[in-house]
Amino acid sequence: MSSTDAVFRFAPSPNGELHLGHAYSALVNHALARASAGRFLLRHEDIDTARCTPAFERQVEEDLGFLGIAWDESPRRQSDHMQDYAAALESLAAEELVYPGFMSRGEIKVHAERFEEEAGRPWPCDPDGAPLYPGLDRHASTKERETRMSEGERFAWRLDVERAIEMVPALTWDEHGASPVGESGTIVARPLEWGDVVLGRMDIPTSYHLSVVVDDAIQGVSDVVRGRDLFYATSIHRLLQALLGLPVPRYHHHGLILGDDGRKLSKSAQDTSLRSLRAAGMTAEDIRRMVGLPGQPGDDDAAAEVRRPGSSATG
Ligand code: GLU
Repeated sequence: MSSTDAVFRFAPSPNGELHLGHAYSALVNHALARASAGRFLLRHEDIDTARCTPAFERQVEEDLGFLGIAWDESPRRQSDHMQDYAAALESLAAEELVYPGFMSRGEIKVHAERFEEEAGRPWPCDPDGAPLYPGLDRHASTKERETRMSEGERFAWRLDVERAIEMVPALTWDEHGASPVGESGTIVARPLEWGDVVLGRMDIPTSYHLSVVVDDAIQGVSDVVRGRDLFYATSIHRLLQALLGLPVPRYHHHGLILGDDGRKLSKSAQDTSLRSLRAAGMTAEDIRRMVGLPGQPGDDDAAAEVRRPGSSATG
């Protein structure tokens, strides 16, 4: 691939105000895109229509403009493309790789607690610390599924991960950043660690994992640059790419900007929101310095800073 085919994307969810961590991610993405003469795209990941709003979407665009970041095409809004995700979900369903899981989050928790009490050992959790789906309804008959669904019982479409991994070879990805514990280079995907993840809901034919891989493929993304908190999710993304026959981008997971308490910033923490920092009189240059990037918007310098071995973001 010639460097001019490179396509990068910044893909926030417009469900709150962007903070310093988003600024860092957007600036790094933009710098790497420009340094490789590639394109830089903006994607609004708004499948959670209850929490995402057009007002937050406008604010994302304003904040990026304030940081001096321009994108190359009109932004892709996920809620405008539900049919793309529905088609992907259908094709997985046709291979019997998804099933309706009827257990709620609360029921999964109760199941895990009961197991721990009875077995005297922990119930397995995914890399984000959530208990794995017990899969009690994984092999329910078609008749039982149909009855429960027609009775209006709530469910989510879940990936049968064990069946899925049997259909693909061992999977890896090319990591240009690093994992939370410093691994880089060729990384072996471990999708089983996530269990039977949700790929769609009753009312929304997708989930974060499904729409992100579908969109990266549709948009021709060659380089996924995002925070290290999504490093482990890449295992599921690689599995979905293999099952759906999608191309595999390069990945660069960058360090996170941490708050004074050493924790990842959240959208509800007003003090680090770009909007409040702007209101307090900060300039784009101030923000760049706060996230540890060179003060002047020279993309080659910022890209070099990010690529420096051992480079990590600090707040
Ligand atoms: N929408 C995700 C977020 O805001 C990022 C998705 C991605 O970069 O893969 O955390």
